[in-house]
Amino acid sequence: MDADEPVVGEVVTAGPWIVWTGRRGSAPVEYRRARAIDLKGRLLLPAFSDAHTHFMQFAHSLRSIDLDGVTTIKEALRRIGQHATVRNGRSGWITGQGLDLNSWKDRRPTRHELDRVVPKRPAAFFTHDQHALLVNSAALRLAGIGRESIDPAGGRIERDAGGDPTGFLFETAYRLVWDRIPQPSPLEAERLILEAQVKAHEVGVAAIADMGEPGTLRAFAGLQEKGKLKVRLWKSVALKDLDSAIAVGLRSGVGDRWIKIGAVKIFLDGALGSQTAWTYKPYAGNRSNYGICRMERADFDAAVRRAAAHGLSVCVHAIGDAAVGQAIEVLRKHESRFPRCQPPRIEHLQLIDPRDVSKLVRSRIIASMQPSHLLTDRDYADRHWGQRASNAFRFRTLWDRGVIMAFGSDVPIERLAPLEGIGAAIYRCRARDRRGAWYPGQRLSVWGAVWGFTVGAAIASGDTGTRGKIAPGYLADMVVLDRNIFTVKPTDIFQTQVAMTFVDGEYAYGV
Ligand SMILES: [Zn+2]
Repeated sequence: MDADEPVVGEVVTAGPWIVWTGRRGSAPVEYRRARAIDLKGRLLLPAFSDAHTHFMQFAHSLRSIDLDGVTTIKEALRRIGQHATVRNGRSGWITGQGLDLNSWKDRRPTRHELDRVVPKRPAAFFTHDQHALLVNSAALRLAGIGRESIDPAGGRIERDAGGDPTGFLFETAYRLVWDRIPQPSPLEAERLILEAQVKAHEVGVAAIADMGEPGTLRAFAGLQEKGKLKVRLWKSVALKDLDSAIAVGLRSGVGDRWIKIGAVKIFLDGALGSQTAWTYKPYAGNRSNYGICRMERADFDAAVRRAAAHGLSVCVHAIGDAAVGQAIEVLRKHESRFPRCQPPRIEHLQLIDPRDVSKLVRSRIIASMQPSHLLTDRDYADRHWGQRASNAFRFRTLWDRGVIMAFGSDVPIERLAPLEGIGAAIYRCRARDRRGAWYPGQRLSVWGAVWGFTVGAAIASGDTGTRGKIAPGYLADMVVLDRNIFTVKPTDIFQTQVAMTFVDGEYAYGV
């Protein structure tokens, strides 16, 4: 991924670093005694970085109920019931994710149906976009939610015609239940992250940015102490912790090559699937719905100003075009105040008004996007945003105009699978989707897609010049693929497997 010398034949590493690259067989004599690995012509790339994860949630998801792809109430209840009996503990929460409200063949399930399969233990299931939670009656009781409960700011407790909660909690309302789920012990959390680390290496991921809970940082630090950490972490700071972060003098970029303090995470809106992304024009099916604006402009501006003044960068969740527009405006206003190596970022950036693209160009703002979201979201975008969907996931436009894109998966919302993300950015539809590419004019080149998961993601986490390329002076995080994705046909990229992963100059996965 070094534009000056895009292809080399031989790479020499020493310790964690790449020390030499060049033509095959031309390494200086002093390196001749190094152990050689013949890749037999296979493609070696910089290892992938995932610029947007919820890694602890991903680790949890490896052990909870996956409802992805379930389209009927009957099947959902069968899966939940089966899992509840397999895990025959008598207490504790039952959790899951992947409920897809937009593809149900029948109506939505309610807590009463959930109660039939999980009558006593509290149960909570995230929707696919993680912006709503379906819970059973036991969970509602634990959280003290009833007929009289008032909707929290920025959220909604869904109610039936009689005024009783249905079990669906939207946006901030889900925290009423979610925050009651006991956290795993520190040791248990480390064990979970270790399992997730293996999964990361299997798909060629050596570094992640984490937007989730602080527990991720604790667990990564614990593993580092024990010498078991083999995935690099850039950790966001929740806005509610901004004062504490300032109080202890935390700054973006503090850390080492394994763990780094990232930016302050600020939410401006919701998501497309639950029609809560904040848009300039109303949603197609509901002329009075513009989504949800989760933060007033003055508060947002003040938060960004305060963070930047104390050496903290920000990453702003913005999905709808109105949220994206506002994020660009405010971040540009404070542009010169952010730390030099920690640029401000907009997370998701799914819909962008053409007029706002020009404002994004020539700024330092990173477009932190998740290509694989479009594989599912194309249908919602067409349905909810109509013609405006042509402004969604505009990879090609942003790339051509020089906007720095950092790619990620938003795992566990989408799979941790950079090659799937690369396929999605290039092909703009699933391999088997007969409709073909969605807005094919926005298809990205292979180079551009790989760049987003390597160089771009490294820049977004303040690692310009040390990660994301195979060049001397860069960290020896590399991945070997079973085929050359620059020459195979686009649909084959989805089938591509990782053969080996190297992290910090050592084997992490493969033979
Ligand atoms: Zn996210």
